[in-house]
Amino acid sequence: MKTWHMIVDVSKCVGCYNCMLACKDEHVGNAWLPYTDEQSLHGDKWINPVRVERGSVPFTEVAFVTKTCMHCDDVPCAKKCPDAIKKREDGIVLIDQVRARGNKNLVDACPYGHIHWNEELQTAQKCTMCAHLLDEGWEEPRCVQACPLRALSVVYCDDIEFDQMVEKQKLKPLTDGSNRPRVLYKNLYKINKCFVAGALAYMDGDIETAATEAKVKLSMNGIPLLSTYVDFLGEFKLDKLPKNSGTYTLECFMEGCKTIEQEVTIEEDSINLGCLMFEKA
Ligand code: SF4
Ligand code: SF4
Repeated sequence: MKTWHMIVDVSKCVGCYNCMLACKDEHVGNAWLPYTDEQSLHGDKWINPVRVERGSVPFTEVAFVTKTCMHCDDVPCAKKCPDAIKKREDGIVLIDQVRARGNKNLVDACPYGHIHWNEELQTAQKCTMCAHLLDEGWEEPRCVQACPLRALSVVYCDDIEFDQMVEKQKLKPLTDGSNRPRVLYKNLYKINKCFVAGALAYMDGDIETAATEAKVKLSMNGIPLLSTYVDFLGEFKLDKLPKNSGTYTLECFMEGCKTIEQEVTIEEDSINLGCLMFEKA
């Protein structure tokens, strides 16, 4: 049996907020009952690209992780409020909009903060995956349609096909996975892993010059893990290091120069090593 899934690629999202605006456009001023009452103009964001920064100046990086109701298969919200929240056969989780009126407790039913309280209408609401459109034959919800970089996509397929997709594309949940979310992510390292960055230079007479021919290698306990050449500015970045993963050895090589060796300890944040200077061999 085919069901709906959403895939979010963190590496493609630029934080344009088109998805959020398309969601507002679809739902503000429009009550798509019985799927959902209208969304409030301000405040509630049923889909929300959240900005995450890594590193420190000058080696900083910004990524956006777009968050929304994950239409969980374990359905923690429906377990808490079985009368008001239901999962459809196609995987979409909806709130009964009659039972939602005046029932602020429903907001606490989602442990991930994806049920919102509409003050004007005094009702609980959330992303419906635009079920009113999908049921009419649309191939994707408004947010997905509006994403200019295809950072969002939906898949309507059976479990076996989706499991293969999860494996092949290395899709991961944003949570610990116990809620069995239908919204899965690609390239989450952009928000939950660390990088080591720096620049390499040498003195050419009395001029500090970028070491554009240099190579760097990161290893742990003598086991090489990552390596890269520097870019045209002599800068490097080694990414996807797990938080609190311990102490690594960074080695920097350039022909005619002594090897630079430095210990780097990864805790919660990415590391900026600044400019490292080669000495002539
Ligand atoms: S993300 Fe929250 S509201 Fe959405 S299905 Fe899961 S528990 Fe329910
Ligand atoms: S529309 Fe796409 S690129 Fe723009 S913020 Fe949303 S997910 Fe990111």
